[in-house]
Amino acid sequence: MISIGSPTTPFAGTSGTPSVLISGASISGPALAYWLRRAGFAVTVVEKAGALRDGGYPIDIRGTATEVVRRMGILPELREAHIDSRRCTFLNSDGSTLASLSPSTVSGGVEGQDLEVRRGDLAASLYALVRDEVEFLFGDSIDTLDQTQEGVEVTFRGGRQRTFDLVVGADGMHSRTREFLFGPEEQFNRYLGYCFAIFTMPNTFGLSHELMMWNAPGKAAALYAVGGDDELHAFLNFHLPEPPADTLRTPAAQRNLVAGVFADAGWEVPGMVEAMRGADDLFFDTAGQIRMPHWSSGRVALVGDAAYAPSFLTGQGSSLALAGAYMLANALATHPDHTAAFAAYEQGVRKFVTMNQALVDNGSATLFPTTARALVQRNTMLRDLVTLPAAAARPAHSALALPDFAA
Ligand SMILES: Cc1cc2nc3c(=O)[nH]c(=O)nc-3n(C[C@H](O)[C@H](O)[C@H](O)COP(=O)(O)OP(=O)(O)OC[C@H]3O[C@@H](n4cnc5c(N)ncnc54)[C@H](O)[C@@H]3O)c2cc1C
Repeated sequence: MISIGSPTTPFAGTSGTPSVLISGASISGPALAYWLRRAGFAVTVVEKAGALRDGGYPIDIRGTATEVVRRMGILPELREAHIDSRRCTFLNSDGSTLASLSPSTVSGGVEGQDLEVRRGDLAASLYALVRDEVEFLFGDSIDTLDQTQEGVEVTFRGGRQRTFDLVVGADGMHSRTREFLFGPEEQFNRYLGYCFAIFTMPNTFGLSHELMMWNAPGKAAALYAVGGDDELHAFLNFHLPEPPADTLRTPAAQRNLVAGVFADAGWEVPGMVEAMRGADDLFFDTAGQIRMPHWSSGRVALVGDAAYAPSFLTGQGSSLALAGAYMLANALATHPDHTAAFAAYEQGVRKFVTMNQALVDNGSATLFPTTARALVQRNTMLRDLVTLPAAAARPAHSALALPDFAA
């Protein structure tokens, strides 16, 4: 149950309670909804999917974000949901074993503190916290947004028209809210030199609580058994110097591109490519970061991947989403108007975002070397890690000191 403070801010147009529409019900949307309710806002969340999306790949909650979920009271249940992988095994291009390491050694996480959970488990925990206090509109989305002096007039795809004091886009990397406010994504999506395909396939390998990763220069294939399940998360990642053309946005073209790139690959890759061809949950995308000079315009702001996706290559997307949602709600709870609040949000979070986005550069992801030379260097580093003590946690993961929540 959420304890509701009284809003201390004069955001509300006509009614006494300021209203906020959040677009997107994954991680940053429900997290923001929780903290805004704590601050006394009336919150509506619109999600284009017909229901909360479950399942999905594993995500990490680290450093500052662990403190956010602790303050939300869901740390114990997330510890229960922790995937607790036992090892990461790296394979040479002929399929022989290069090195077997503990997951935290590879990710720079802190064993016993940082969490790895299925994305759907985190989304479900966040949703359960707010569903009785927040209006959810599933199967709908924003069609038009018009800002006036008094508020934001919203027309939904489903035909409804409503006015809110504020709107926040929590609608992910390819945010439509961002497009409404600032124009096409290309201006802000910084391509990192990789494309990837993820899908599930049967666990015919007997893998349990472990990751296997095969590499050749510019190519990587991974199988991840997040439990002892019958299914594996399969992942095919490859280097492409320029982002693929728009024609590659159809699923058939994506499948052909991936199959072509991995045509001569060893290990279990041929079976993975075959599974990808038949997968009904294939997700193909480019690895990129959203970098924007500002995260708001007027009464509309962005949070999470919509504003500052760091890419899966950093493993920090969910952590930035949780920490960003907390900071945005706290800024709205403490500042006299939305202009001051959005400025404080940016000022409070920008450095943290920049540090995390700097964890990876174009074509330089440690786990995905793009040349034979870089692969040899990476392999030497992995072999050394087998005998070295675990590295210290990455400073970027905990670089944001959270203020006490104002409400
Ligand atoms: C393959 C992959 C692996 C990843 N691995 C990791 C990892 O290991 N660690 C990590 O921390 N992060 C990882 N991430 C990133 C992580 O999933 C995101 O950073 C995080 O989920 C961001 O949360 P978000 O709520 O801001 O956006 P999203 O999770 O993208 O959610 C956006 C929501 O908005 C909805 N939506 C979209 N458009 C509209 C619209 N027009 N109207 C209404 N709703 C809309 C979507 O349906 C979705 O529910 C990975 C991402 C991918 C793709």
